[in-house]
Amino acid sequence: MNAKLTTVAPQSSAPSFYEAAQKIYPREVRGRFATKRRWTVVVLLGLFYGVAWISWNGQQLLLFDLPARKFHVFGLTLWPQDFVYLALLLIIAALSLFFVTALAGRVFCGYACPQTVWTEVFLWIEHWTEGTRSQRQKLDQRAWNLEKVLRKSSKQLLWLSLAFYTGFTFVGYFMPIRSIGAGLVQLSLGPWAVFWILLYSLATYGNAGYLREQVCKYMCPYARFQSAMFDKDTLVISYDELRGEPRGARRRGAPPAKNQGDCIDCTLCVQVCPTGIDIRKGLQYECIACAACIDACDDVMDKVGSARGLIRYTTEHAMSGNRTRVARPRLFVYGALLSFATGIIAYSLLTRTPLILDVIRDRNALYREVRGDWVENAYSIKVINEDEKAHHYRLQAAGIAQLELVTPAGLIDVPPGSVANVPVRLQAPAASAQGVHPITLRITAQDAPSIVRTEKTRFIGPQ
Ligand code: SF4
Ligand code: SF4
Repeated sequence: MNAKLTTVAPQSSAPSFYEAAQKIYPREVRGRFATKRRWTVVVLLGLFYGVAWISWNGQQLLLFDLPARKFHVFGLTLWPQDFVYLALLLIIAALSLFFVTALAGRVFCGYACPQTVWTEVFLWIEHWTEGTRSQRQKLDQRAWNLEKVLRKSSKQLLWLSLAFYTGFTFVGYFMPIRSIGAGLVQLSLGPWAVFWILLYSLATYGNAGYLREQVCKYMCPYARFQSAMFDKDTLVISYDELRGEPRGARRRGAPPAKNQGDCIDCTLCVQVCPTGIDIRKGLQYECIACAACIDACDDVMDKVGSARGLIRYTTEHAMSGNRTRVARPRLFVYGALLSFATGIIAYSLLTRTPLILDVIRDRNALYREVRGDWVENAYSIKVINEDEKAHHYRLQAAGIAQLELVTPAGLIDVPPGSVANVPVRLQAPAASAQGVHPITLRITAQDAPSIVRTEKTRFIGPQ
């Protein structure tokens, strides 16, 4: 059989699989959930911009001081050795997110996610400078004139200022904010600080000003896996199709015609949606549960004289006429894990000793003969005072008969949040120190006897 080769001419009108993103102009919305969202934004941003400036005992309240390798967290100073606390805090944050998502869906996305919060503020600025949704659409279509230049440039100026202050505040959680503030004023800030401030400013400006819903749709991993935490009893925002369909226009105050649903197809729920979706098509992963469509639709229902709640917070079970169960196995599992992790961190923080003792034996010599029939071992110890106060520590050694601490002779003074490297010499009679002996070094704060640390090491004598 002869195979016949044919060539296919390239098609000039090949379909494109790329769909350019359409700019979304979310309509302003008022209502109970919009008010809640506004207050949440104000409180969260107030905390973000404000906490960085609060000091406690002369120390910034929340500072992840990377250059000094010390984390100051609400009066606690955590060192790299305390990394377990940060790991536990991250685990608690993740479990809280799982718990809240299983219970109430994507409320975090709709109200508290940084992307939502900053986008909301950038939208407020856009509204103040460029006007309502239709005014913004017209402005974008209009040719450049003085008004357009003034409106656009004032928006950009406010966006850039807020983005820069956000970048500055963010870096202020990693370097003392007052010192970077002074450095900015005196134009003496180091290149790395400038780099990070500009990077985070750019990220804020780009994400909240331009990328907006695309971050939620294409970049956020949480949007992809949150459905795994959903079940039929999870609170979601839904359109009541049974009540709303078939949709159709009707006069204000007039009841729906026979066989007509409550939805008047005004598309306001789509116009207010920050991700540009139509909730009437069912639950979609792009929905961030901001409830703007609920407010818009409730307003419409008030105007046409129908009951509110055509779009509402509900569950899949409730929509299908079944009972919603709040207490479910997955909530108990998340709740138990969350309580366990919180209990561990609370217990370990309450019983934490703000002192670390590291002991390194001098490896250059096994032992030294001193005072005729005595032998000496040398060590170097590191005393880390993790407390917010200075302490005077006494070192003691035990483990061999007549073991003597030669140096340090007195107390070891360590300022708050500091490290002292101290050479230590121990001596013991050669007769009782033959071979290798486990010994214990114990250090106690003289002004706070509950602050104690012990470390085991070895004392080597003649064989
Ligand atoms: S806002 Fe309400 S009435 Fe208007 S289109 Fe949306 S669901 Fe229908
Ligand atoms: S569908 Fe409604 S709740 Fe979901 S993102 Fe759009 S406006 Fe917000």
